[in-house]
Amino acid sequence: MVRATGLHKHFGTLHVLRGVSLTVERGEVVAILGPSGSGKSTLLRCLNHLETVERGEIEIAGRLLARADAAGVAHYPPESEVRSVCQATGMVFQHFNLFPHLTVLGNLIEAPMTVRKMARADIVPLAESLLAKVGLGDKRDAYPARLSGGQKQRVAIARALAMQPEILLFDEPTSALDPELTGEVLRTMRQLATERMTMLVVTHEMAFAREVANRVVFMDEGQVACEQPAHEFFASPRHERARAFLANML
Ligand code: ADP
Ligand code: MG
Repeated sequence: MVRATGLHKHFGTLHVLRGVSLTVERGEVVAILGPSGSGKSTLLRCLNHLETVERGEIEIAGRLLARADAAGVAHYPPESEVRSVCQATGMVFQHFNLFPHLTVLGNLIEAPMTVRKMARADIVPLAESLLAKVGLGDKRDAYPARLSGGQKQRVAIARALAMQPEILLFDEPTSALDPELTGEVLRTMRQLATERMTMLVVTHEMAFAREVANRVVFMDEGQVACEQPAHEFFASPRHERARAFLANML
């Protein structure tokens, strides 16, 4: 579902991604762990075209978002093709990024109507069923300001699903939440995993990564330092920095 090869990305002189390669199979849940500043968010943002890479290749759901030429330099297709490829991905952010001036339902139907050109009558029933699925059927007409953080994040997940993506990218979806609100968001994500939704999740929730992820990708200083089946990673991380990281988290 995702095949990234040899990604490089600079911010000015800062070399943030230093040859990152990663694959995610259909139906897989992959957790990205690693210290702050290791490039986790930048990687997700490159996969969702919120940032561009300078080198390497990105394939999403079988289509090229960025193609590497013989010298390894990344080339992007025309904007319309980029937009179309990116419809396969949905993103859930740490800070929810809901539209404050729209109701919960409005948040869900906005992109399907404007980007996918879906008729309101077609998207509203889907949006309502997604709200029911995340346990917020009764919040359809509420504004985001009236919701708890956990409710906002569940709306954000439902909003991403309303675009019917093939893969969901999560960037620390529970990091902005009070501890007592993380459970409801993780439950929703767990449910998606049991439904075989493909998910790539940057998280500091070790219990979630251990229980739900099939695979762990550990990033350090802009590189994938190691990549292991989740149960194996937590039993004996192969990389020294990962061992130190885990020891700090537990
Ligand atoms: P992580 O998510 O693993 O904490 P990030 O991908 O957010 O790491 O950041 C990696 C590095 O890139 C950090 O040093 C960060 O300060 C820097 N960085 C991230 N985004 C930008 C940006 N838009 N402009 C400049 N530097 C950035
Ligand atoms: Mg980050």
